[in-house]
Amino acid sequence: MSIDQRRLIQTYAHSVHMAHDTLTALDQLSGDGDFGDNLREGIDQVTTALDAAPTELAFTIAARVFLDEVGGTSGPLIGLLFQEIAHALADDNSEAGWAAGVREGMAAIQRVGEAQAGDRTMVDALLPACDALAAGGDAHASALAALNGAKATASLRARRGRASYVGERVLGAPDPGAVGVALLFWSRAKVLEQ
Ligand code: ADP
Ligand code: MG
Ligand code: MG
Repeated sequence: MSIDQRRLIQTYAHSVHMAHDTLTALDQLSGDGDFGDNLREGIDQVTTALDAAPTELAFTIAARVFLDEVGGTSGPLIGLLFQEIAHALADDNSEAGWAAGVREGMAAIQRVGEAQAGDRTMVDALLPACDALAAGGDAHASALAALNGAKATASLRARRGRASYVGERVLGAPDPGAVGVALLFWSRAKVLEQ
C-alpha cells in the first residue's frame, strides 16, 4: 500500500519521543547514553525541516538531516537507511518500493558499518524485517519481525560499536539502535492501519 511519507515521519517522531528515556537507559548500559538524544534531536530537526519544505519528499529531508547533522555512530547509518528509502519510494511508493528501500538501506549500513547478523546492532532489527517483507509479509508482519529481532539482541554480546567494549554487561537488555529502528516499522504499520 502507498504511504504518506510525512505522516510516517511524524508518527515515527512521536514514537521516538515516547521511547526517548528507554533508549537513553539502554545506551547507558551498553554505550555512552546519547542514542535517545541523537535520535530525538535528529527527528525533531526533520519535522522542523518538513514544515520549511512542504513539497520535498519527507525521506529525502530525513536523509539529509541524519547524514549531515546527526551525531553518534547511529546518525549517519540511519541517514543511509533514509536515503535508500527515499530513492526507492521516489520510484515506487508501494509496499514493494518500501521493501526495496529498506533492503538497500540495510545493505548500505552493512557496507559502511560492516555489521553482520548477530553482532548486536540495528542490523538485527532490519534483517528480520527485510526477510518478512521478502516473504510477502505486510507492514504488521515486518514490524513484529523488527521488534522481535530487536528484543533478541538482549541475549547477544556486541561485536560492533561502543557496546563491544563492555562485554557481558549488556546481556539482558536489547541494543538501543535495534529498538530505535524497529520503531520505524512499527510506525509504518500504525500509519497504514489508520
Ligand atoms: P555512539 O556509540 O557513537 O554513541 P549511538 O549511541 O548514536 O552511537 O548509536 C549506537 C547504536 O548504533 C547501537 O545501538 C547500534 O545499533 C548502532 N551501531 C553501532 N555500530 C554499528 C555498526 N557498525 N553497524 C550498524 N549499527 C551500529
Ligand atoms: Mg551512544
Ligand atoms: Mg556517542
